[in-house]
Amino acid sequence: MLQEEPNKMQPSHTAAGQSPAPRPAVKACLWCGASEKRLKCCSGCGTVWLCGKDCQQQLWPSHKAACKDAQRCARLRAAAHAENSSDSQQNK
Ligand SMILES: [Zn+2]
Ligand SMILES: [Zn+2]
Repeated sequence: MLQEEPNKMQPSHTAAGQSPAPRPAVKACLWCGASEKRLKCCSGCGTVWLCGKDCQQQLWPSHKAACKDAQRCARLRAAAHAENSSDSQQNK
């Protein structure tokens, strides 16, 4: 009998190579990829890491839309969260 297993996405190796770090889960500057420096969350959305003001300024034009989106999302989520305290954190 065939039992198909859905492919689980497993982050295998992110140590070497230049992956375009799409998630803030990996603590590395979204712009330059530095992970050894002191990283700060984006002050706008808090969902991406940046190692400094320079990187933030460089990243901003391309991050602006996503940042505002994330902020709106966070607000909506917070509002929804206030009403339903039951939540699943599997959301994107
Ligand atoms: Zn950087
Ligand atoms: Zn942001």
